[in-house]
Amino acid sequence: MDTLTSINTRKGPEERPLLKAFLDLFFPNPCPLCNERTSAGRYLCPSCEKALDELLPAPVLGKGSGKVARLHYYSVEDSPLYELIKAYKYLPRKGLADHLALFLYRLIVFWRVSVPFIIPLPAHPASIRARGFSNTRLILDRLKVRFMPEITILDPVVRREWSYRPQASLIDEAKRKDNVRGVFRVKKGTILPERVALFDDVYTTGATVAEYCRVLAPLVKEIDLFLLIRRK
Ligand SMILES: [Zn+2]
Repeated sequence: MDTLTSINTRKGPEERPLLKAFLDLFFPNPCPLCNERTSAGRYLCPSCEKALDELLPAPVLGKGSGKVARLHYYSVEDSPLYELIKAYKYLPRKGLADHLALFLYRLIVFWRVSVPFIIPLPAHPASIRARGFSNTRLILDRLKVRFMPEITILDPVVRREWSYRPQASLIDEAKRKDNVRGVFRVKKGTILPERVALFDDVYTTGATVAEYCRVLAPLVKEIDLFLLIRRK
């Protein structure tokens, strides 16, 4: 299996990786996790790379409800994987999508489940505009390119742009539920396979995922949920 060492290069979805590697020689980019200097052409410093590479998937399943049959997650919020996701989403560092795709791949392999179809939880349109990419969709695209060429990525739902606030800004569970009610709409004429996987990077109260699954439910029999981080 691929190790993090083979992934941890600036050859991911960033544009012009050679130019970046060249610039790194003169203007080194600090490691996004600890701010230490990294070697040229690499994202993470050797010690963060090692800490992440040694991280194993959580050997337990979360509780599903409704059509969510299984809830697989890799780690919890005090893990270096959460720091990696934050760097990817909030710096943002698009090139870390390959690193995160590796962890999703390891999670799927760990549970030995067959995942022929996977859906990204649609990102908030304002976040896509601010980052220039959809955090969930890009990880799945990189999963397909680097690890699972046989997987089919489906994107059957539209996320409406409303004046609702980013979920991360709300702490109260009831408020989070209200905030996402009615924000998803299935594209016209959508037909889906009976079993699909749904992917999100960070799961907090599960309000967004639950609302998404509510919209998807009439079209499928079973949903397998894959998450990188489950917050407590
Ligand atoms: Zn580091």
